[in-house]
Amino acid sequence: MTKKELLYYVDEHREELIQLVSELIQIKSENPTGTQRGVIDYVETFLGKAGIEFKETGCNPDYPCIVAGIGSETGFSIIINGHVDVVPAGDLSQWDFDPFSGEITETQILGRGTSDMKAGVAGVLFALSLLKREHVPLNGNIRLHIVSDEESGGQFGTQWLCANGYADHADACLVAEPTSMNTIEIGQKGGLLLTLKAFGKSAHGSLGNFKGENAILKLSRILPHISMLTEIKGHFTDRQLKPLKDSQMLAEKENNIPGLGRAIDHVTTNVGLIKGGTRHNMVPDYCEAIVDVRLPIGVRKEEIEEVLEQIMEASGAEGVEYELHYKSEANFTDHEAPIVLAFKKNAEELLGREVIPAYQWASSDARDYRLLGIPTIQFGPSNTVGIHSYNETVQIQDVVTAAKTYIGAICDLMEVL
Ligand SMILES: [Zn+2]
Repeated sequence: MTKKELLYYVDEHREELIQLVSELIQIKSENPTGTQRGVIDYVETFLGKAGIEFKETGCNPDYPCIVAGIGSETGFSIIINGHVDVVPAGDLSQWDFDPFSGEITETQILGRGTSDMKAGVAGVLFALSLLKREHVPLNGNIRLHIVSDEESGGQFGTQWLCANGYADHADACLVAEPTSMNTIEIGQKGGLLLTLKAFGKSAHGSLGNFKGENAILKLSRILPHISMLTEIKGHFTDRQLKPLKDSQMLAEKENNIPGLGRAIDHVTTNVGLIKGGTRHNMVPDYCEAIVDVRLPIGVRKEEIEEVLEQIMEASGAEGVEYELHYKSEANFTDHEAPIVLAFKKNAEELLGREVIPAYQWASSDARDYRLLGIPTIQFGPSNTVGIHSYNETVQIQDVVTAAKTYIGAICDLMEVL
């Protein structure tokens, strides 16, 4: 088959692709809780039937990885990554439909994991099986990384694969995570966890204003100053200014929140957890808060520490300490890397509108590949509203477009006419 025939085939057989998404949704794979065995077994059966050689690997029997491949030894080598775990469905009464029914409507597929990211996984599996079955002569190879531990940090999944040589010598990587169909994700923020610890002195609650030192009140004097961190701006190169501007414009337009672009080039903070005290009638001698701090491109831990010292001083609270747990720096791929251009061209041809390489504020497994120096993008179907929330869905049309983009871009990168 030619590239054109392959794309036509996807349209003709879209029902198979939709069915594949629906079946993946019906296999519960919430993370945390439980094992990912069921969904991994399903993918292995699919690969087996498609005649694609695969191997199960990993470091945790409940969170296995699958590596598989097609193509030639030489030529362009692309990794395609997808995770099959999903965030928990949460309070079922908040859903308008059963999150695990995989129901297919006229325009959508419904359920937990449709957007994040079983539709992306289905598109990738469908693309691979088609290229394999038609013996498409690829000048290069596709290395599939199916992982089952993205939603809890990736330590048993992508991180492990990258640390154990599975990503070596790759020329590019596609992570089929949800993006809008208007963008190709080319960079993400880094992050660290800040723990603030206030120490006080216990006393009887009836004498709270006279005796003891209240750790909760101490901490509460610091918290209003935490927003000082959000004044820290990223350090972008001249070359990155255009994608930065585009990303900010798109973020504000798509989310309809003026000023949201600032989340891309500035530090953001979220005081997400607070705990302190023992009983209402005891002056609390300890209180702590955990703050999620996200770092834009170029901002290092040292810059955060500097401002934290200023915050401590400004708040005047004594007996408060902080701890930083550094997770990762921001990461990015050049906006004109071959994989970016190939996806941009194919997506634009299919959609008939501009598709923009953009930075985002979230983070994902793309980080692990970028830290190895592999040009990496994210592109996948999604309805962003339901991701990590209730009523997750995906547009059928986007699922089909994404699968066709995968095939089209692979054909271009591997010289299939
Ligand atoms: Zn995801």
